[in-house]
Amino acid sequence: MISPRKIKICIYVVGLMLAVGRINAQESPGRVQAGPMRIDPRIERALKAVSAKRIRANIDKLVSFGTRSTISAQDPDVVTSGHGIGAAREWLKAEFERYSKECGGCLEVKTDSFIQQPEERIPRPTEITNVYAVLKGTDAENAKRIVLVTGHYDSRNTDILNITDAAPGANDDGSGTAVSLECARVLSKLKFPATIVFLAVAGEEQGLNGSHHFAEMAKQQGWDVEAALNNDIVGGDKNPEQDHSLVRVFSEGLPAAATDQHIRRIRMLGGENDSGSRQLARYIYDVARTYDTEVKPMLVFRLDRYLRGGDHYSFNQQGFAAVRFTEYREDFHHQHQNVRSENGIEYGDLPKFVDFDYVAHVARLNAATLASLASAPAPPANVHLLTKSLENDSTLTWDTPRDGLATEYEVLWRATSSPEWEYVQKVGTARRATLQLSKDNVIFAVRAVDAQGHRSLAVVPAPEH
Ligand SMILES: [Zn+2]
Repeated sequence: MISPRKIKICIYVVGLMLAVGRINAQESPGRVQAGPMRIDPRIERALKAVSAKRIRANIDKLVSFGTRSTISAQDPDVVTSGHGIGAAREWLKAEFERYSKECGGCLEVKTDSFIQQPEERIPRPTEITNVYAVLKGTDAENAKRIVLVTGHYDSRNTDILNITDAAPGANDDGSGTAVSLECARVLSKLKFPATIVFLAVAGEEQGLNGSHHFAEMAKQQGWDVEAALNNDIVGGDKNPEQDHSLVRVFSEGLPAAATDQHIRRIRMLGGENDSGSRQLARYIYDVARTYDTEVKPMLVFRLDRYLRGGDHYSFNQQGFAAVRFTEYREDFHHQHQNVRSENGIEYGDLPKFVDFDYVAHVARLNAATLASLASAPAPPANVHLLTKSLENDSTLTWDTPRDGLATEYEVLWRATSSPEWEYVQKVGTARRATLQLSKDNVIFAVRAVDAQGHRSLAVVPAPEH
């Protein structure tokens, strides 16, 4: 009979052999395991400035408007009385303007207003206003590149058409709105080559109306939105099953904006796990490995939760990379409910269920992602994988972006069955690299890196015949 100790040793040896085999197959000079980024001390300091106290004050303020239903009254006297969505809108504008004053007018505070015609959840023509602040990039070429954070400031209770009863929306989505505000406050103290947009949208509960209008405007005006971070229900509801060390990050697989030709290529080559949004999710994973954000992203490879939707989808529809942050475990008694007690259960989306420290951690993860991307070079353009002939080596080519920040490029790869990038090879300033690895067995990508180690998003190559 074999003793348990011998079995243990056997398992250990077999495990070691497997591990060695795997490393040997992948290792050669210049190739290393993919890992965290280089810490930027400026970003690290900015994260320390994120304040749970400020976030709490902002969520309490949003709740104080009673209801922020998109279809609630917005006439001037109601706005003056501090009630309804119009009052919330005016306060958001004033808050962004206050941050701008603190940074010598560095933010451009704007609104995007439109009249939404009646539809299922909008009984009469309704003015919907998105409020946003722009921290313009410091050099002309990079300023065209935009990274964006958003939350929805509208709220609802049990009845989507109810505009009179309380709809506190502390978690959904006072928390996300507070993340966007706090990112604006701390990041406006810094300067970045690329542009950051801090957004608060309305109409989410009615049917993603605000974000739809905003993303469409961005597309029509030719904005180069590299990343949109949607925070919706990031309050870390204090239920016993909550895990305050995790935040879910949802990303679409098959891009909503993919053409038929694109879908055919995805089907042929196994690209269903490599949308731009998924590269953004992987980037967030790397950010969390780099900075001390306390909360870690749990990547969910799915557009959204069952039966639910969110504003990131509006950006996906326009072809932009966008993800959704949501707390690990939602308590549905505390969302979309009239405030009440029934059979000993408390219903309603009240501030007392929100964990403000958790929201601050999520805000740090967002701020670190925005700051890293806005500091980084543009992603390499026209990335191709040469497929002219049958061969076991793989050659990738790309164009140098015009932004001029990149000092080197890195080729990444992973097994087709792996969720995250596993290996990286530095290839200097070349615009072409040949690796002794079969493209049939791995998925490749290329990213740009600057002198301080800021990384662009990774770009998966298209085949070139
Ligand atoms: Zn929501």
